[in-house]
Amino acid sequence: MSTDKRQFNIAICGLGGMGNWHREIIQQIEDLHLVGTYDIREERQQFAREHGVTPYPSYDAMLADPKLDIVTLAVPNDLHKPLAIKAMRAGKNVVCEKPVTLSCADLSAMIDVSEATGMLFTVHQNRRWDEDYLTARKIIEEDTLGPVFRIESRVLGCRGIPGDWRQEPEHGGGMILDWGVHLFDQILQMIKEPLKTVYATVDHVTNELVDDGFYADLTFESGLIAHVEVGTSHFIGKPRWTLYGRDGSASVDWGGPEGTQGEIVCVTDRSKNDAVPIRTAAGLTKTMAPRTDDTIKKFPIPHVHSDIHDFYKNVMDAIDGLQEINVKLPEVMRVMRLMEAVKASAETKQIVPFE
Ligand code: NAD
Repeated sequence: MSTDKRQFNIAICGLGGMGNWHREIIQQIEDLHLVGTYDIREERQQFAREHGVTPYPSYDAMLADPKLDIVTLAVPNDLHKPLAIKAMRAGKNVVCEKPVTLSCADLSAMIDVSEATGMLFTVHQNRRWDEDYLTARKIIEEDTLGPVFRIESRVLGCRGIPGDWRQEPEHGGGMILDWGVHLFDQILQMIKEPLKTVYATVDHVTNELVDDGFYADLTFESGLIAHVEVGTSHFIGKPRWTLYGRDGSASVDWGGPEGTQGEIVCVTDRSKNDAVPIRTAAGLTKTMAPRTDDTIKKFPIPHVHSDIHDFYKNVMDAIDGLQEINVKLPEVMRVMRLMEAVKASAETKQIVPFE
């Protein structure tokens, strides 16, 4: 095992939207050299040339390159398994796009090959570096809200599913695999407790063959519930995260270029409970009246900064045995099992026991 940092040669298979994102990131990282790409579409081979990258004539030619250390796979989901197995058998380390594959059985076969060949195999769970997620996690870990009893994590769009392979089950389409994989991974990283049960429903608003949205309630051992939601026909949004604790609530949004936005509201004096009732057309309520300012305190959310280049830096260090790999295969398997439980719950309309 070497203890010195060295340079790594990497190539990308699949130069579509996400493959090109990898190209941009990789080219910004010292010690990581993009030595080629391969895409079955000639227009993407030409795109590579126009961006100063020499495309390999085939995937086999890529894998036959003795100077290549790492292959990044950014192809449709059903191709991850065969192409990852082929790369590891050719002696290449593999960074695979999410979702790693379509089932636990397929993932098991991929892990077996990683163990048999000794090649590093990891998954691009890049949303572990999302600043909204890191901010929500910090609010919970710092106990800002007291004991948290409910976490809501949602992404809501209104454009349906992109009209490509994402609409087709055989290619691993659907929102559970596409976005669920990120949101479930984040929740399982955040809550370090056994997950006891899963209950889920799915939407088929614009697509019959795959889910175009879902709602999942994950109940952890302490009773904490994480509600995870993805929608693609939602013309009115909601915050990316809503956190509810005994002593306060927080909302965190992903915010765009200005960075993460949100607010924290905590109770300062629960005993002061005088409320001016809210009157509606048909009645009145004290229970739902807002608190007066003298019994609450509002805080800005903390700002957590991250650098996505750390993903590849960790991969390089892990290959050299200098750091543990960040995205570990047992974690990837747990998320895959959870996605299978979500699908099973939605199909049977039952609560599914998990751990
Ligand atoms: P895309 O359709 O834009 O690109 C896929 C590319 O793969 C296309 O250019 C296609 O020609 C190429 N391709 C197909 N079969 C191939 C083969 N046998 N050999 C070589 N190239 C082949 O799709 P995308 O949005 O870039 O998604 C690709 C992968 O990246 C998917 O697994 C997706 O889930 C993932 N993704 C991840 C994120 C993230 O944030 N981590 C975001 C978007 C997509």
